[in-house]
Amino acid sequence: MHENKIIIIGAGPAGLMAAQHLALKGFKVHIYEQNKAAARKFLVAGNGGFNLTHSENLESFLDKYGSPEIRNIVQNFDNQKVVQWLADLGITTYVGSSGKVFPTKNFKPIHVLKAWLDRLEELGVIIHYEHTFLNFDLSTVILRKNGEEIEVNYSKLILAMGGGSWKKTGSDAKWVEILEQKNISITPLESANSGYETNSVFHQLQGQYLKNIKVSFEGHQKTGEIVFTKYGIEGSPIYYLNRFTRKYNFPLTINIDLKPNLTEQEIVVGLSGIDKISSVLKKKFKLSTTALNLLKTLDKENYTDVDKLSKLIKKFPIEVLSFRPIDEVISTAGGVSFPSLKSNFELKDFPNVYCVGEMVDWEAPTGGYLLQACFSTGVWVAKAIADFEMDIDE
Ligand SMILES: Cc1cc2nc3c(=O)[nH]c(=O)nc-3n(C[C@H](O)[C@H](O)[C@H](O)COP(=O)(O)OP(=O)(O)OC[C@H]3O[C@@H](n4cnc5c(N)ncnc54)[C@H](O)[C@@H]3O)c2cc1C
Repeated sequence: MHENKIIIIGAGPAGLMAAQHLALKGFKVHIYEQNKAAARKFLVAGNGGFNLTHSENLESFLDKYGSPEIRNIVQNFDNQKVVQWLADLGITTYVGSSGKVFPTKNFKPIHVLKAWLDRLEELGVIIHYEHTFLNFDLSTVILRKNGEEIEVNYSKLILAMGGGSWKKTGSDAKWVEILEQKNISITPLESANSGYETNSVFHQLQGQYLKNIKVSFEGHQKTGEIVFTKYGIEGSPIYYLNRFTRKYNFPLTINIDLKPNLTEQEIVVGLSGIDKISSVLKKKFKLSTTALNLLKTLDKENYTDVDKLSKLIKKFPIEVLSFRPIDEVISTAGGVSFPSLKSNFELKDFPNVYCVGEMVDWEAPTGGYLLQACFSTGVWVAKAIADFEMDIDE
């Protein structure tokens, strides 16, 4: 057992993964968590199907991450390693039709978490609940427990406090102010994996789905399913576009291809010389009721002109006004900026202090890519600390 005391702040997936890998290397690990229980957001992520990673080949998998720093780290502990890690916890997995990796049906999210926490306990990891991180210096962390401040010394400190969405799960992003006061550069947190608020003309479609459509923006495109809501649109192709639209000012226009498997010319030919446009769209082109309702929001000039209508079926414009509020979205972009971190994710200005998980400045779409990067950064930092300590011991 190493003498050095490892302190981790935050018992989410990134912190727990760092803890497991350090404990496996013989380190004594203490996790401090402000909630009464571990990994509440991890459990929330399991509500609509517990999508722990994705099965696609590594090249396109890594493509989902905008930052090269994260790609490198995910490659080091990739999707196959996540599946192996789960198997080692006794959790069997399967690949869904979308390629997403889920625990088999006999394992609910709480079972996965329990198996993981049991393993951590066997490895001697201690989790101190109801401890809120307030500050740190070069050797000490200040925490609040039952209204009192306590100080804990560390040899290595890992910050794993998550992003800023779904505050009720504990990820309240109060760390942003604490780190900024220490002149650590933080890219402002913004909504990610977020729906868009749209022009109100589309609100009448609330509750209606569009399936097998392609959504695009400035050359970036994604096929899938979207749903209209009382404020706008949601769905994984929409979340995929987030990182590209982020670089532009709202309002902006994204486009929907309502018939990806037909060319514009084929649609023109099919519509030419007919009277009952709606009937052809429905019977010949098999457009869904939602697609027809969407086209009915067009003015008469566009709806009745074959060339214009064909163009619009292939490239229907949706004016989007903003992302959804941060607290309601699946994840946040932004966080501790890469220039303030060394390649091992140690803060340049605070030796022995590391950052992992969603609190670092990367973003990725849903589909298992978020949890994957949280796991991978946890392993990365654990390995950096263990390798460093091994070098010193030798
Ligand atoms: C609705 C929803 C659905 C999702 N679906 C998916 C999905 O299908 N696939 C996917 O890959 N990802 C999904 N995610 C995202 C995924 O859950 C997160 O990216 C992931 O949990 C982030 O892990 P983390 O360890 O970095 O932070 P978190 O899980 O946020 O954990 C951070 C921990 O730190 C604690 N903490 C924060 N501040 C302090 C403090 N000051 N003192 C002490 N403790 C503190 C928090 O209480 C929390 O326990 C979803 C998220 C949501 C909200």
